[in-house]
Amino acid sequence: MSRPRIAVIGAGMSGLAAAITLQTAGADVTVIEKSRGLGGRVASRRVGDIVVDHGAQNIKPGDSLLHEVMTTRLSSKDLVRIEKPVCLWSPPGTIHTPDEEYNSALKYSYYGGINTIARLLAFELQQLGGTVSLNATARHFTENEQGVELFDVNNSTLGEFRGVVVSAPLPQAADFVANSAPFTAHPINVLDRVRSLRQIEYRSCITVMLGYYRIPATPDLYALLAADRSADLLWLAFESCKGSGHSKGTHEVLVAQMGARFSKYCYLEEDAITASRVIAEVESLLGSEFKSPDWYQVKRWRYSQPVGMVYFDDANPAGSEGALLVCGDGLRPNGGKIHEAYLSGIEAGNRAKLLWL
Ligand SMILES: Cc1cc2nc3c(=O)[nH]c(=O)nc-3n(C[C@H](O)[C@H](O)[C@H](O)COP(=O)(O)OP(=O)(O)OC[C@H]3O[C@@H](n4cnc5c(N)ncnc54)[C@H](O)[C@@H]3O)c2cc1C
Repeated sequence: MSRPRIAVIGAGMSGLAAAITLQTAGADVTVIEKSRGLGGRVASRRVGDIVVDHGAQNIKPGDSLLHEVMTTRLSSKDLVRIEKPVCLWSPPGTIHTPDEEYNSALKYSYYGGINTIARLLAFELQQLGGTVSLNATARHFTENEQGVELFDVNNSTLGEFRGVVVSAPLPQAADFVANSAPFTAHPINVLDRVRSLRQIEYRSCITVMLGYYRIPATPDLYALLAADRSADLLWLAFESCKGSGHSKGTHEVLVAQMGARFSKYCYLEEDAITASRVIAEVESLLGSEFKSPDWYQVKRWRYSQPVGMVYFDDANPAGSEGALLVCGDGLRPNGGKIHEAYLSGIEAGNRAKLLWL
């Protein structure tokens, strides 16, 4: 008997987890990803010969399933434990002693960039026979008796499937589902689901990377976190703490993540202006040695982390799922975390198994 074809939209942590769960259970899974790389918000980029994590900063899986997966099934020599502490800071530039409770949780990245975790998951999926299709944006589906047909933004078909799992951030998932509603058997049910997905907003976040072709004298810590979470400079991390791939022993890159208010009001600002504001903040915190980076890059995250959550069963009401399931970090308590997104993908994969296999 042929394997039922299932589409997963999004190659972030939740989509890849759903895809592997389903492929392992006997489906033929195609992951459709709009960008040219894997990982979604678990993002790394190359600048010259070094790698910078410019989205999620570290994986703090606690004792969740993801910790077990990272250290056993996907065990890799590339995994790096970040040993140095995170310290709180408060204005005008006071750095507090490390918070032991906060720092007792293990923090990880990878020598080749934090998105290595997504590359390992995608490799596993492909070994199992699944497919990842990059640079393909799903816009909507139409429902038929066998399942769904999926279309891209040019209205070209992406294939026919028994079901589709959508793992985009919830506002984007809502757009996809709303676009599809007219082509489904029960549009009102589908639009009810859109309403529950739209309940959750996502914060935006501006990330600024500052590169130095030298190793400045830095405090003995991995990152600074603002004691007042409404501060403009929320997070400032030293990438060299993640090993040689992130610094080559000769560079330092600071990753600044800006607070919700700053990110909202400066979202449309020119890169040079945003970078100069951030450099001024960094200089006042760390001193004049950080005044003149050799390069900077700015990345804007329209959907960074969810504010609140929708329960999985509200987004996917039992009996009304049809050929559609939604997953992602907005469907988890304490969402906006890599290990929570991973768990959401497993949850969707397990529900899809019951419905479609
Ligand atoms: C700046 C920042 C810092 C963060 N820091 C941390 C941290 O330190 N630790 C931590 O645990 N978490 C952190 N997070 C949160 C964490 O990255 C997310 O919770 C998690 O990665 C979400 O995974 P996901 O699979 O649910 O969604 P995503 O990673 O967003 O994956 C969704 C994927 O779907 C794709 N997609 C969307 N629409 C379509 C479409 N129509 N067609 C095809 N593909 C589509 C997207 O391109 C994306 O690849 C941070 C996030 C950001 C942005």
